Parts: sequence; C-alpha cells; structure tokens
Amino acid sequence: MKIMVVGAGAMGSLFGGLLAEAGHDVTLVDVNAAHVEAIGSRGLRLHTDQGDRHVSSLRACSPSQASGAPDLLMVFTKTLHTSSALAGVAHLLGAHTHVLSLQNGLGNAEIIAQHVPAERILIGVTTWPADLVGPGHVHSHGQGLVRLMSADGRDHPAVAEVVQALNGAGLACTADAAVWSAIWEKVAFNAALNSICTATHCTVDQLGAIEDGLALAFAVVDEVLAVAQARGIAVQTQACKARVADAIARHVGHKPSMLQDVLAGRNTEIEAINGAVVTTAADLGIPVPCTRTLLQVVRLVQERQAGIHSKH
Ligand code: NAD
Repeated sequence: MKIMVVGAGAMGSLFGGLLAEAGHDVTLVDVNAAHVEAIGSRGLRLHTDQGDRHVSSLRACSPSQASGAPDLLMVFTKTLHTSSALAGVAHLLGAHTHVLSLQNGLGNAEIIAQHVPAERILIGVTTWPADLVGPGHVHSHGQGLVRLMSADGRDHPAVAEVVQALNGAGLACTADAAVWSAIWEKVAFNAALNSICTATHCTVDQLGAIEDGLALAFAVVDEVLAVAQARGIAVQTQACKARVADAIARHVGHKPSMLQDVLAGRNTEIEAINGAVVTTAADLGIPVPCTRTLLQVVRLVQERQAGIHSKH
C-alpha cells in the first residue's frame, strides 16, 4: 500500500516506521525540518519492545516536496493543526485516497470532511503510546490497540484493507462499528487527566494524592459520558473510571501531553477535548460544570504560558 503520514511526530513516525518495516511504501510528511532531515540522512530511529533500530525503507519530506496520490493518508498532527495540514497536502488527495485519523478528541472526521468525501474517511482510536525523543528518534513501549471504522458507517473494502495493513505491521487493529464508544471513552479519560494536570501542573500520579483529585477526575468522566449517552452512544462509565484510577496508580511522574505542550509554550488539544464536549453538551442542554471550568482554566494557563515563552 502507498501510505503517507501527515504529521509524522511521535505517533506518525511510530505508525509510519512499523508500516515501512512491514513492506509498505511509506512517506512521512512533516513541517519539522530537523526531524525530516534526520530521517533523510540516518533513517528513522525506532525504539520499541522489538528493539532499537534504524528504519531506512521510508522517505521523509515537507508537505510541498511530497508528490503522488497515496492509497492511504494518515493524519497524525495534533488536532489543532489538522485543517492546515490537510490544506498543505491538498495536492496529494487523489480520487482514490482514503484518509485515516486516529487522533485524540472530537471533530476530526468533520474537519477532514472539509477536504475529502465522507466515504473516503476512516476514523478510529488508538491506545499505542509514543514519544518523540529528538529529531528522527521515536520511542514506544508496551502494548496498544487500534479500532477503526468508515466515517459514514458503511463497510467499504478500504476498511478491511487498512485493518490488514495495520495488523501486518503489528499494530493490533480491528474494524469496529462501535468505534464512537471508544472515542468518547478516550475523550472522557483525556478530559479528566489532561485538563486537571494541565490546570494544576501536576503529574498523573500526583492527581491522586488527595481525594479531591480523583473525585474531580471522576466528575469529569461522568459529565463527558452523560453527553455521549445523550447522543445515543453506548459507553461504559465504570470501566472508564477504572482506567483513570489505574493511570493515576501506575503513571508515576508522567506529564500528560497537554501539560507538556503548555510547558513548551505550545497550544494544546483542549478545544478538541473539553471544548468539543462543552459545545456538544450546550447543544443538548446538559450541564458540564467541571469540564467547562477546566476548559476555561486551561485556556488561561495556555495563554499565560504562551506569553511567558514569547518574552524569551
Ligand atoms: P506530535 O506533536 O509528536 O506530532 C505532531 C506532528 O505534526 C509534529 O511533528 C508537527 O511538526 C506536525 N505538524 C504540525 N503541523 C503540520 C502541518 N501543517 N503539516 C505537516 N505536519 C504538521 O503529536 P503526537 O503525540 O504524535 O500526537 C498526534 C495525535 O495522536 C494527537 O491527536 C494525539 O492526541 C494523538 N495520540 C497521541 C498519543 C501519544 O502517545 N503520543 C497516543 C494516542 C493518540
């Protein structure tokens, strides 16, 4: 399969690297010039449980340098960059190109639908973790899963083809017609842990240091999943809370990506997570006071931190 990954940071490089190792024709497309250059000169250094190696059987380039329509275009930018990234690769979107998003948050299919018809959009969720250690160098440890479906809910042949390609790369993928349940449960998990840690600058385990931290996280999960249920999406609230409690117990010292983003002076995915929940809740007339307050506090923290960085 001819595959391009737009937004080839931590996750895009992991997926692209594994797909290249499985024999696919992969191009990583990114605006990070140092990352693209490092991959071009030394290959992609991929450190996973399968070992530390350099993958040279792929290409990396900037959006304007990329050419030829791929069978599959994976979008792995942060959600706030999806629209500009797709505009930057409009010349790659052929009549048969399918676009896959496994990004966090809500609204990804809607943004992609401004560039590609719904029948060529695949949407899903992944629990694989990845970190960009430096230019051309990605780490991922442990196990993950991918669940995906066609954004229009139909069983297009491309769904099975993409599932097969991801499975062949060891990415444990299933086609799942109920993927919206998983997407909303992950949004609830992220709305709780990411926004509280970002608002308070605490690590995931520190969130559980006093009862109020866990109580607030569970209140956010309850609010987000009440909105999902009102949208007719079947979700498992207790299982989601168990995952939140498990992360608090096990992820010692971990700063969620949203906190890492504000500390680096970057804008966060708060609008696609808490922001999208608050908007949907308002349309349905459902109160989400904790989720809304955390949205406002994170916007404030993000703004203040960006100001600090712009002065340096
Ligand atoms: P990242 O910041 O490491 O990578 C994003 C990449 O997009 C960067 O390399 C950036 O240069 C690139 N980019 C930005 N604008 C671009 C543009 N206009 N054109 C091309 N490239 C552009 O982010 P990540 O951690 O890989 O996360 C990507 C998505 O996956 C997010 O939605 C995140 O929430 C989700 N996710 C991340 C993890 C994880 O463990 N990292 C796990 C599951 C889901």
